Amino acid sequence: MPELPEVETVRRRIAPVLEGRRFESVTIDDPRLTRPEDQEEVARELEGERVSAVHRRGKYLIVRFESGRALLIHLRMTGSVLHGAGAEGDDPHRRAVIELDDGSRVAYRDVRRFGTWLLLEPDEVEAYVDARVGREPLGPAYKSRHLAESLAKRRAPIKAALLDQRTVAGVGNIYADEALWRARVHPLRPANELDADEVKAVHQGVRRSLEAGIRRQGSTLRDYRLPDGSSGSAQERFKVYGRAGLPCERCSTPIDKIRVAGRGTWYCPSCQRL
Ligand SMILES: [Zn+2]
Repeated sequence: MPELPEVETVRRRIAPVLEGRRFESVTIDDPRLTRPEDQEEVARELEGERVSAVHRRGKYLIVRFESGRALLIHLRMTGSVLHGAGAEGDDPHRRAVIELDDGSRVAYRDVRRFGTWLLLEPDEVEAYVDARVGREPLGPAYKSRHLAESLAKRRAPIKAALLDQRTVAGVGNIYADEALWRARVHPLRPANELDADEVKAVHQGVRRSLEAGIRRQGSTLRDYRLPDGSSGSAQERFKVYGRAGLPCERCSTPIDKIRVAGRGTWYCPSCQRL
């Protein structure tokens, strides 16, 4: 499932394609993509809009228009945004197509159809996003005291707290496990029982694991693709995620898998003590 590194990689690739371009025509074939809004109505509203910038907040891709409106795209499980060769040919999972005023097209593909497109008016955008998404973990203003403040209120396991998008934006199942391994913190530790040094380590672990993911253009376990159809390679360097039974690179203890907050969770039983 795309997390911050995957969505950020898509943003960096698709921003130069979209910025300054006008949406000539828009076709949305799947009513689930825009519900409860009617998909044909949303498509008509998007036609004629010119893109001013493509931003990201947490796992939301935010296509901002010169009109002040914005299209919020959430890829959820299996969504991808494609351009060039990736947007051509037959594809039974293509849900929407945007024809741009330079003659190129951007396609939205989604196998499981949990992704969403939401068109917001100028005065709605910030409030909508702020209500759902916490601080950006890679922003210069994000300090470990911000993480400490949100964890102090939580008795849930630290892993569950990190998965809450209001704690820190964009961290999902993969990068939460990677961050906790880097921090040497057990995923079941109650969030509010971490001491200041441990919170600092988690703060740094989150940043380092997300940055590592972005450097390798995200992780392709199954469906995630870059806009040109190619795959990310972060999965080749995972420290714990999906590595049950393989040796920890720090201490050689076999990585263990448990369930936390209903999610498969990988950790090193020796480096990350309960
Ligand atoms: Zn270890």
